[in-house]
Amino acid sequence: MSKVAVITGGGSGLGRVTAKQMAEKGINIVVVDVDQDSGQETVELVKQAGADAFFVKADVSKADEVKKYVDQTVEKYGTIDYFFNNAGISGSGKLFLETDVDEINKIVEINMLGALYGMHYVADVMVKNGGGSIVNTSSSAGVIGQSTVVTYSATKHGIVGMTKSMVAEYAKDGLRVNAIAPGPTETPMVKKYFEDNPEMKESAEQGIPQKRLGTPEEVAELVTFLLTSYAPYINGDVIRIDGGFTSTK
Ligand code: NAD
Repeated sequence: MSKVAVITGGGSGLGRVTAKQMAEKGINIVVVDVDQDSGQETVELVKQAGADAFFVKADVSKADEVKKYVDQTVEKYGTIDYFFNNAGISGSGKLFLETDVDEINKIVEINMLGALYGMHYVADVMVKNGGGSIVNTSSSAGVIGQSTVVTYSATKHGIVGMTKSMVAEYAKDGLRVNAIAPGPTETPMVKKYFEDNPEMKESAEQGIPQKRLGTPEEVAELVTFLLTSYAPYINGDVIRIDGGFTSTK
């Protein structure tokens, strides 16, 4: 019986590339995204890779929509084995005192509440069915402090906290929960951020010991490893994947 993975933010970037890599291993994928067209495109890519897939349009910051993607997955496949809790947005790149409250709320709702709602409904299914594996997407900004990302950084530190505490409560029930902390990785989100803030790109590359940005493929390899049974005793960890960036801070 094929395993089943739910991937939020599956329409783009890290979510899409991970969907493709997991599909190549025969894992069925439920693609969740707020963007219908890109989500459907990922479903087609998964099918081309030989696995089954369907798309659920959902805004992860709305608890009822999160419950909907979980219910639809269970209805179709009976369970959830793997969950890449990944949807997120960056901010405008403004200094914190110049950031308006609406932007603060939006980042917290999507990055922090969206991840909590996802774990709440998905882990419930996993624990009832004997266990499962979750990877939450943190960031370099979730393990160190940086300028112009105060709210984003707060949510990504929050991801680290929820990851560790979930393990304290549910590892005994067969749940594994880990987080990844990627440095700047060449996805559409980062390309847009660097287009809007061009002076940041060169300084970002110069600040990375390997002198380049990461690739979505590299991150997807790590997520697939952590989610699947190749990593059965890694639990509650935060794995940095950043070319050495945070190790030099
Ligand atoms: P991306 O913009 O390429 O993809 C994000 C996807 O999430 C998009 O398809 C978007 O439509 C979807 N999304 C946004 N808001 C949503 C919502 N409310 N509900 C459902 N879907 C929503 O970005 P990415 O770079 O692939 O980022 C994925 C995750 O990785 C994010 O959590 C981001 O913070 C994190 N991250 C990215 C980098 C990087 O450098 N790319 C580094 C560290 C962490």
